[in-house]
Amino acid sequence: MYEWIIIGGGIHGCTIGNYLIKYEKTTIQNLIIIDPHQEPMEKWRAYTDKIGMEYLRSPSVHHIDVPVFSLQNFRNPTDYTAFYGQYKRPSLQLFNEHCEKVLQQAQLKKCWKQGRVIRVYRDLDKWIVQTDDGQSFITKNLVLSVSVNEKLHIPEWAKESSNDVKHIFSEKLLRLSELTPSIVEVVIASLLKLYCWLQDSTQIFQMNHG
Ligand SMILES: Cc1cc2nc3c(=O)[nH]c(=O)nc-3n(C[C@H](O)[C@H](O)[C@H](O)COP(=O)(O)OP(=O)(O)OC[C@H]3O[C@@H](n4cnc5c(N)ncnc54)[C@H](O)[C@@H]3O)c2cc1C
Repeated sequence: MYEWIIIGGGIHGCTIGNYLIKYEKTTIQNLIIIDPHQEPMEKWRAYTDKIGMEYLRSPSVHHIDVPVFSLQNFRNPTDYTAFYGQYKRPSLQLFNEHCEKVLQQAQLKKCWKQGRVIRVYRDLDKWIVQTDDGQSFITKNLVLSVSVNEKLHIPEWAKESSNDVKHIFSEKLLRLSELTPSIVEVVIASLLKLYCWLQDSTQIFQMNHG
């Protein structure tokens, strides 16, 4: 029996795992993280790589470690390529390197169990967790950290033109930079349309109001 099982090894699952180990709430032998991917945070890496993101949209105090300035202290903050703007948004490369270091220090990869959880149920004071390869795991404490990042949802209005609508979660979309027309062309075309619409609206307004 384990003390802790974390289902989902993304950013949140790894943050909780690191906290549990770092603050000696449990040991490596008493914790497993169950996730279908080979490595921690694979979804995060895949999606952020897809959009070619250089800097995170979140500030430097958002990271997977416990001390609030862990990421800022990881690299010299005067390194202008490491952080961006007044909120010190970290570069994706720096953020990922920091995650790697935190995962190594906590030895979280030793707790990694590749698989997909298909059933969870309570049996008296324990949780039983079943994976798609037929294994069962028993634990005292259970963390669900599965997010919605696998749930591709195309809204109704977009379904008719589904050939043109690409979802970031779709396996079919490899990288935004490979889109045709390119995302820049789409933005420019939209701005031109908006500009024409504004000009027409201004003319109609002037006609109606002398
Ligand atoms: C392109 C993009 C850019 C982003 N940029 C930022 C940013 O700059 N700053 C920011 O704060 N946030 C950003 N986000 C949001 C951020 O990625 C999410 O908030 C974060 O990844 C959620 O972490 P998570 O651990 O909850 O989920 P995930 O990273 O999705 O991890 C959940 C894990 O659970 C696994 N799982 C699901 N079901 C099961 C199951 N049944 N059994 C076992 N495992 C399962 C999944 O496979 C996955 O590995 C961005 C998101 C995207 C898509």
